[in-house]
Amino acid sequence: MQFLSTRATSEDLSAVSLDKALVRGIASDGGLFLPVSFPHFTIDSFDTASNGPADSLQTVANVLLAPFFESSQLRDELPSIVDETFNFDIPVVEHRGSSTTLRLLELFHGPTAAFKDVGARFLSACLTRLEHANSEPLTVLVATSGDTGGAVAAAFDGQPGMRVAVLYPNGRVSDRQAQQLSCWSDNVLSLAVNGSFDDCQAIVKAAMAADDSRGYRFSSANSINIGRLLPQAIYYAHASLHYFRKTSCRPDFFIPTGNLGNAFAAYIARAMGLPVGDITLVTNANRLIVDFLEGAPWLTRDSVTTLANAMDVGNASNMERLRAHGGDASTLRQQVSAMSVNDEQISAEIARSFREFGVALCPHTATAVHAWRQQEKPTPHQIIVATAHAAKFEQIVEPIIGETIPLPPALSHILERPQRFEEIAPSVDVFFDALNAWFQS
Ligand SMILES: *Cc1c(COP(=O)(O)O)cnc(C)c1O
Repeated sequence: MQFLSTRATSEDLSAVSLDKALVRGIASDGGLFLPVSFPHFTIDSFDTASNGPADSLQTVANVLLAPFFESSQLRDELPSIVDETFNFDIPVVEHRGSSTTLRLLELFHGPTAAFKDVGARFLSACLTRLEHANSEPLTVLVATSGDTGGAVAAAFDGQPGMRVAVLYPNGRVSDRQAQQLSCWSDNVLSLAVNGSFDDCQAIVKAAMAADDSRGYRFSSANSINIGRLLPQAIYYAHASLHYFRKTSCRPDFFIPTGNLGNAFAAYIARAMGLPVGDITLVTNANRLIVDFLEGAPWLTRDSVTTLANAMDVGNASNMERLRAHGGDASTLRQQVSAMSVNDEQISAEIARSFREFGVALCPHTATAVHAWRQQEKPTPHQIIVATAHAAKFEQIVEPIIGETIPLPPALSHILERPQRFEEIAPSVDVFFDALNAWFQS
């Protein structure tokens, strides 16, 4: 399978292998990589000769990802990459209320308790294997407003031959997020930048664009990397297959959306023939996606701060992929719906779901639960995607529900580790100084 930039013309000959797309992160023309075509599956594709219908995440992952790895150096290692990625469960859990049942696809059982663990772990498993014979180390840069950096640092922690530099805005992440960004081994450099998230991102871009990157080999681990997108299709495939076999119905998904990486994975799962029903993209007050589908132009906006901060995105980068594959707004409207949920509604939903179902939602998941309630004609076949554990956002959730949320084991393990980080000024020169000192130590 070859990969093309979203900005390539159809006759373009610049397609690259999966391995190149993974290492580069972004296409040389600034576009995002997409497979030249998507393979097609039927329900039976996932039956195994010996065991009947495949039920494990691992088996579904191996079948679904095999075509993408056909001409990759990593082809024979796909099973071990899959095992390393999916070393935690991704269950659909039902919570019964008095009149309805809330069905959550729980994506938060990984090391940093948010769905980004899936993509980060897969990317780390691939890059570590691709790079192990390379004498020049690859340094993965990641600018983060909170969740992404923790997942990426945890995934690359202690991986031989790999280095990760995480840049986050000093004082603008929660205490638990700060801990997750700065408690790792020597191959992770945690930089608390005295500036905003935009400053962090600007440093990463400037460093990657610097002449010869001043002697470093850089890659990027943000959600534009195809290596974060592909594995996310697996949990939609797994959950929808399971649901379809049980009920003969295709489940609809309500997905908390920021950069559109998670929701685009549901979209490609359906495009590959998986029994995924309707897809609803749920944003917080940053509603550009909703307005665009309603006919507004796609014009970047400054993001506004909300309770669901991992979705505070003014310009969802994966919209470029959705438009390249799905067409203009009027065509896209027939394939996905979208809805925006504000902070007041998020708080009210956290309180209501706790009363009604006894479940503590994280603010991101609460947007999708709220959207689910607003439908004119709810069907029983609907799954809400739970993107993070509420304990990660305890400063928001605990005052609303009036209870302490027990920490999941993975998270309490992380919170016990010592912190180690360096504060730097928001400047690319200062960043290179810190990098040089780190490499020499
Ligand atoms: C990143 C994140 C989102 C948004 O996901 P996208 O792929 O950027 O749309 C939603 N919820 C949580 C908890 C996140 O960390």
